[in-house]
Amino acid sequence: MNNFHRFIGALLPSRCILCNRAQAATTCESCLELLRYQKQHDKLACVCCGIELPTTPNKILGSPGQRCLECINTPPSFDLSFCLAPYAGQLKTAVQQLKYQRRLAYATGLAHLWNGLMSKHLDQLPPAYLLPVPLSHQKLAERGFNQCWEIVKHLTLPKHLKVLPNVLRRRHSKVKQISAGRLERQQALSGLFYFEPRHAELLAQQAVIVFDDVMTTGSTLNAVARVLKDHGVYHVRNWVLLRTPRQLTDV
Ligand SMILES: [Zn+2]
Ligand SMILES: [Zn+2]
Repeated sequence: MNNFHRFIGALLPSRCILCNRAQAATTCESCLELLRYQKQHDKLACVCCGIELPTTPNKILGSPGQRCLECINTPPSFDLSFCLAPYAGQLKTAVQQLKYQRRLAYATGLAHLWNGLMSKHLDQLPPAYLLPVPLSHQKLAERGFNQCWEIVKHLTLPKHLKVLPNVLRRRHSKVKQISAGRLERQQALSGLFYFEPRHAELLAQQAVIVFDDVMTTGSTLNAVARVLKDHGVYHVRNWVLLRTPRQLTDV
């Protein structure tokens, strides 16, 4: 951003992407505070896939560090997942505005929320490469941008977390993930992600963080993690903006 854009930006008020209040930043302090509060009082989630763990009326079944039954019985290729919030309410609308209405200011706003909640925890993470989940060339041409990259490029990261936006590639798939059954979806995803051999060398024996905007069944992130692990990546952590509850087709 150059000085001219900064000057214009300072003159034009923006709106909070969540409460629509006019103000200078894309997310307001009270929305950020609310999200912080909700995060502290979240129900326990599976450390591996981020799904909410089952509860009884009086007692949470589980403890920090616990995995859901599915991750115990069929461990996915990724190791950990951090999900910022459930796929619901105004955050869901914000992601939809970004993806389907092409409102890029929402990417800045969502990154601002992520920074507000996450930035002070990042120093404790070991060095890693951060890879946004890519779109296929066809999808990129259709949408005009990759929403994951648009968010990632506005994240505030310490130096030991390095972003690699163009390393992971994705082939085009004709199977619509939302309507496909689990087996069909897994078959469609196998071989979908790839990278060039020189990048395989770069990533070997490294830790990787994969960023996705929405995690539904976990199949996409599992396919990404499988490719990474097949090429020698030793640890894969997912950063997910919004997590949907597990679908019945997943059980
Ligand atoms: Zn707000
Ligand atoms: Zn799990």
